[in-house]
Amino acid sequence: MRNVLITGASRGIGAETARLFAENGDNVYINYCSSVQAAETLQWSLTQKGFSAKTIKADVSSSDSVQQMFADIEKDCGGIDVLVNNAGIAQIKLFTDITNDEWDKMVATNLSSVFYCCRAALPYMIRQKFGRIVNISSMWGQVGGSCEVHYSAVKAGIIGLTKALAMEEGLSGITVNCVAPGVITTDMTAHLTEDDLKALKDETATGTLGTPYDIARTVLFLADHHSSFITGQVFGINGGSVL
Ligand code: NAP
Repeated sequence: MRNVLITGASRGIGAETARLFAENGDNVYINYCSSVQAAETLQWSLTQKGFSAKTIKADVSSSDSVQQMFADIEKDCGGIDVLVNNAGIAQIKLFTDITNDEWDKMVATNLSSVFYCCRAALPYMIRQKFGRIVNISSMWGQVGGSCEVHYSAVKAGIIGLTKALAMEEGLSGITVNCVAPGVITTDMTAHLTEDDLKALKDETATGTLGTPYDIARTVLFLADHHSSFITGQVFGINGGSVL
């Protein structure tokens, strides 16, 4: 049974990814920061069905918190075989209005978190000569989003980190890939108006928005043992809005 850590798995894309991995027969660690009830409800619903899932609290924007999470996981199961760096925040704001604190929080939560978690997960993966890392970026990291410059910048940073780390870890049997979702219906996009949503749908080839399942099944595929020749890649799951 593989040990899988999904950051930010209390809600949205992360929660759906945790569900798919658990149903796949993996032992899943559901990381959360503040949504303890959602994380525990997800864990309960999975274990009730006989799947293996545990919750683990950590603020992934903090190096100390990530180190403690990995120490706890190592004590529990030895180490992580599959790491999904999914936790993230978004903010819509004019570039010139972004404060230093907002910039720092965006970088820490969405990008430094990926650095902290990969760095903590890799020694075990390197020792066992196997690992799968999937990082969740965004289509805004590929094309840039107006009024989301800080978000776009960190999501582009995840793409660079993915490509470089894939080169460094390839000979150790570790693949590092990136999924860049388009607009997905979760809490993160719940503030959008009907008009916004219609405009976003119109920008896709499919005329639809994505679901957490669309992203989760791609992550599961990339984490498969048989996906060993796929690394350093960015998978745009966006209904064709970024071709
Ligand atoms: P969401 O529904 O808002 O959920 C965000 C998750 O991240 C929650 O589980 C939250 O946990 C967790 N999180 C936030 N800050 C954290 C921290 N400091 N430490 C640990 N966990 C933290 O978002 P989503 O739509 O599922 O997005 C998931 C990922 O996909 C993000 O990286 C996002 O940027 C990316 N993405 C989303 C879309 C979209 O349209 N939805 C598009 C492109 C990319 P708590 O509630 O427990 O704090």
